[in-house]
Amino acid sequence: MSIANLARRVVRALTPYQSARRIGGQGHVWLNANEAPLAYPFTIEGSRLNRYPECQPAEVVNSYAAYAGVNPDQVLVSRGADEAIELLIRTFCDAGEDQILICPPTYGMYAISAETCGVGIVELPLTASRQPDWPAIADRLSDVKLVFLCSPNNPTGDLVGRKGLIALLEKARERAIVVVDEAYIEFCPESSVVDLLAQYPNLVVTRTLSKAFALAGIRCGFTLGDPEVIAMLAKVIAPYPIPEPIAQIAAQALSPMGLSLMQERVQELNKQKALIKAELIRLACVKEVFEDKGNFVLVRFNDGASVFAAMKAAGIILRDFSTKPGLDNSIRITIGYQGEMDAVIKVLRDLSLNTPSASNQTAASI
Ligand SMILES: *Cc1c(COP(=O)(O)O)cnc(C)c1O
Repeated sequence: MSIANLARRVVRALTPYQSARRIGGQGHVWLNANEAPLAYPFTIEGSRLNRYPECQPAEVVNSYAAYAGVNPDQVLVSRGADEAIELLIRTFCDAGEDQILICPPTYGMYAISAETCGVGIVELPLTASRQPDWPAIADRLSDVKLVFLCSPNNPTGDLVGRKGLIALLEKARERAIVVVDEAYIEFCPESSVVDLLAQYPNLVVTRTLSKAFALAGIRCGFTLGDPEVIAMLAKVIAPYPIPEPIAQIAAQALSPMGLSLMQERVQELNKQKALIKAELIRLACVKEVFEDKGNFVLVRFNDGASVFAAMKAAGIILRDFSTKPGLDNSIRITIGYQGEMDAVIKVLRDLSLNTPSASNQTAASI
């Protein structure tokens, strides 16, 4: 008997999250994990490292609350937004009894965290217009504790419609918690739903420093919610979830200087996004460019596999979504700095010249 047979049945059967680092790859242009292209500058001071850190570092909590426009008692800081997702499930769902609801294609960790916690999953795919299927979700509200929505959605880039969300929050009052994952909201801050927290204690918003703040390496995320919800999560979180050096870096990133660097970065990446999108829609090998509210753009190619292979040969690592329902031939490209985007476009131009497409006569005839 293998010692692995001692593990829980769900863990033995589990396919772990295929994180960018787990998949690996070889190349010099990394556009597969929606990271920022350049590192954030910081300093660390080591005189307190003999002490356990604060469970919820006050400076980080207070600055994030001010930045997000909520009170400090509406903020929980965690080891990335991924830990926030798992904490929500562990706090609100009983193993073998409760379920969460997700709308695929969407971020993979909602399902994986539910599985590792022994919690069921109700899947209601996005509609043809890539919105949550509001009537279908409303029908299942008595079966689920948590509804996970992602806005902008990873990987499709769409925002969740505000009207539909408000109607759902009304229907879900005192029945279910609606989590809106705003990992990419800095790229379209006007679309945040944080203002709805004041009216809906069953709304929870998750955020991260991993994307626009260029700090994926420190693993720091946030949950924004009703003080009662935050207090529940704080009972479940580990005693010292945020290492002292991480708290120091996060506080610097959330200082006025850090925030203005973040906003400059967002402006530059949004500019690069507009440029590459304008190129993409003209290329013969491109079939469809999806919505682009985050720091990435999902593209459906005529032949996704050949694009992925050509990129790989050029040392450019992208993320393939072609096996996901409704996303055949689709590849997600993280927006990087100009040199990286130029490298992507060069590969695609060469491909378009070599493989004329019936759908784009102009390009095909060049
Ligand atoms: C990247 C990402 C996360 C994870 O954020 P971390 O803070 O790095 O754990 C959560 N949700 C979505 C939609 C993401 O794309």
